[in-house]
Amino acid sequence: MASKRKASAMAAAAPEEPVDPADELMFLCLGGGNEVGRSCHIIQYKGKTVMLDAGQHPAYDGLAALPFFDDFDLSTVDVLLISHFHIDHAASLPYVLAKTNFRGRVFMTHPTKAIYKWLIQDSVRVGNTSSNPTTQLVYTEQDHLNTFPMIEAIDYHTTHTISSIRITPYPAGHVLGAAMFLIEIAGLNILFTGDYSREQDRHLVSAEVPKGVRVDVLITESTYGIASHVPRLEREQALMKSITGVLNRGGRVLMPVFALGRAQELLLILDEYWGKHRDYQRYPIYYASNLARKCMLVYQTYVGAMNDNIKRLFRERMAEAEASGDGAGKGGPWDFKFIRSLKSIDRFEDVGGCVMLASPGMLQNGVSRELLERWAPSEKNGVIITGYSVEGTMAKQIMQEPEQIQAVMIPRRCTVQEYSFAAHVDGTENREFIEEVSAPVVILVHGEVHNMMRLKSKLLSLNASKTDKVKVFSPRNCEELRIPFKTDKTAKVVGKLASIPQPMKLPADDSEEPQLITGVLVQNDFKMSLMAPEDLREYAGLTTTTIACKQRLKLSAAGVDLIKWGLEGTFGSIEELPEAKQLSKNGTNGDGADNGDTKMEDADEEFPIDQVVAAYLVMGCVAVRYRSSGEVELEWEGNMLNDGIADAVMAVLLGIESSPAAVKRSATKHPHSHSHSHGQDADADADTNILTLPHRNLHATLSPEERLERLMMFLEAQFGADNVSPIAEPKLPPLSPTTKKPTPTTEDNNANNNANPNPNGESAMDVSPPSSSSDNDNDNDSEDDQQKRQRAELARLHKLGIPVPGVRVKVDKMEASVWLEALEVECGNRVFADRVRAVVERAVEVTAPLWG
Ligand SMILES: [Zn+2]
Ligand SMILES: [Zn+2]
Repeated sequence: MASKRKASAMAAAAPEEPVDPADELMFLCLGGGNEVGRSCHIIQYKGKTVMLDAGQHPAYDGLAALPFFDDFDLSTVDVLLISHFHIDHAASLPYVLAKTNFRGRVFMTHPTKAIYKWLIQDSVRVGNTSSNPTTQLVYTEQDHLNTFPMIEAIDYHTTHTISSIRITPYPAGHVLGAAMFLIEIAGLNILFTGDYSREQDRHLVSAEVPKGVRVDVLITESTYGIASHVPRLEREQALMKSITGVLNRGGRVLMPVFALGRAQELLLILDEYWGKHRDYQRYPIYYASNLARKCMLVYQTYVGAMNDNIKRLFRERMAEAEASGDGAGKGGPWDFKFIRSLKSIDRFEDVGGCVMLASPGMLQNGVSRELLERWAPSEKNGVIITGYSVEGTMAKQIMQEPEQIQAVMIPRRCTVQEYSFAAHVDGTENREFIEEVSAPVVILVHGEVHNMMRLKSKLLSLNASKTDKVKVFSPRNCEELRIPFKTDKTAKVVGKLASIPQPMKLPADDSEEPQLITGVLVQNDFKMSLMAPEDLREYAGLTTTTIACKQRLKLSAAGVDLIKWGLEGTFGSIEELPEAKQLSKNGTNGDGADNGDTKMEDADEEFPIDQVVAAYLVMGCVAVRYRSSGEVELEWEGNMLNDGIADAVMAVLLGIESSPAAVKRSATKHPHSHSHSHGQDADADADTNILTLPHRNLHATLSPEERLERLMMFLEAQFGADNVSPIAEPKLPPLSPTTKKPTPTTEDNNANNNANPNPNGESAMDVSPPSSSSDNDNDNDSEDDQQKRQRAELARLHKLGIPVPGVRVKVDKMEASVWLEALEVECGNRVFADRVRAVVERAVEVTAPLWG
């Protein structure tokens, strides 16, 4: 039914404040959305932009491996935070710094920066000698060396403020130097986990929820989805059983590892096991990575950033070294006893059982790939995968245990086993962490789509038991999220205003007027303070300026009496300024200040030609000075309201200049001003002029149209002429619940006291609906009813002398309706409504009661 639909549509448009785009958080994955590899995310809030990570995809080559940098203007980024040194989080940084218009600042932790330097250098060199000559490098070693000094290194638990963005790194476990970042923009707290782990391992401090911080948005990895890890102890035992099993059957163990990070943890495990099991000490453990060898120094340097186990080992080794006096073990826990570093595969004597850790971890190329192809055909050998294998890499393929290694046509007979030591949280750990952080918004990144979706549904299912439902997002690459956040705006009251005593209690009910304080709101980035204008210099370092506005125009036709009459007609009584009163005292004629022409004629003879002969103050803010030369000067202090009033004064002056009264007056007066006739004649002349002007009781005789025009004038001065328009359709009083048809009583109850006192007045009679209406054409009826009711309402308003039902004020998307009868303002936006209401009140104040 039509009327029902209308009613529900109106209910939907109820005063719900529209979301200001400035209150939205924008999140965009340039990489790492529904994938693992090339992590890169953009956060934008309140005009600030933070970029998280700049990785490269290990399964792709060249430009295809980069995040989608073309989808975002990197020149707008304020801060780039690199969570850790892994390729998929850091390797496109040299490209960003050297090849794009990025101009922001870059931060990472000290260990991350130290390892990043070697790691990128190594990857560029390996890339240079790549077996795939078609691969084009996206940056050179020189690009890396040139941009490296731009990186700023920071410590865990220290807070840094960069263009009002506050950042704090926390330990993330995962690998040495890995950080979670807490980012605060304008009071909104965002926690980015990066890759993180929470289990106790042999060297890292595990990730913890930042203490005492309310997190609004959590951006977390979802690598393992909801899968759970085998407990650490069992996993280690299974790994060692698998390794020793291969050795016992006379085979070689290949462990493809990423050179840095988890490899160091595996070395600690192996070294410890070999130390406890003499039988295996005859099998060499090799570690084939130049990069890892170079970075051992970094591991030895940052023992302080590691956990208690490493610190204890460090003290033990130092004590041992001191006791033996030979300086052995000065590398501390990172000086392994049973592990040999292998400089190059050419120096490797492949003569029997051994354990070989070789990079890269996903067998894409290099040493690990070469050894895989060499050892795969023998069933005695074994490959043990310990890291996370990205889709599309050889490590992922070989885990399917294919008959042969495709591309090279080598048969695979070796065993392939996987024990995850990837140091990512599993499903349970991640869920527990997310619950503990308890952010209202969770954004999942760094996960293959299926794992991510499983985790998402799991998290959403937990909402069932919650009153505040958590929003979970899993955006694809280049899919922009916009999440509204309403943060309370708090302003500190400072200076003089702060000394106003606070009320002892809040007003008990609405009838009690709350105490208002007014001042200037000053915003410095995201800090706001409220102060008196005179405190601006001291508290905000601002100087204040008053703009004095002056406008002059020459009136040839209108005289001072007509000006006064015109101004009074529009603005009500106007104040006469003392400067004019003095003049009238000095005047030769005693017949009063109200006779402007007398003064003017006198002025012609006794005062210089441009002497002020009359001065008025309109609405307490615009001074109007009339000079003997016929020049009128307006002077006011420039501000929005005063400017509008000055405009209105100008309009009045120009209006009377061209009015018939002025023309007539100028025609009769003109000869006198040239004949230099004495006072007597001038007086007579002026008198006749005054008589031609109808006597005016300032407000009473205004027509309704004139009153509406005045209101419109005020609104137009404030909001612009294009933004103010009359409303033709009246606002209908609500129907009584029992019947849809209007009854005369409801209408008259809604009318104000000035309305026709007779409830059976003709306006009400006119709209009486036809008494016979069938149920079938109810819809048509209600449409007809609607129109009839509108006509009736219009008639009623006209009768009250209200020319149109209302005035619409529209600025941008904000719209307010001013209903003229009760002068009520209807508007969804409270601030805008208040502004419109203030102008309407001011207009009514000066033009007196508008109707009746
Ligand atoms: Zn990682
Ligand atoms: Zn990663």
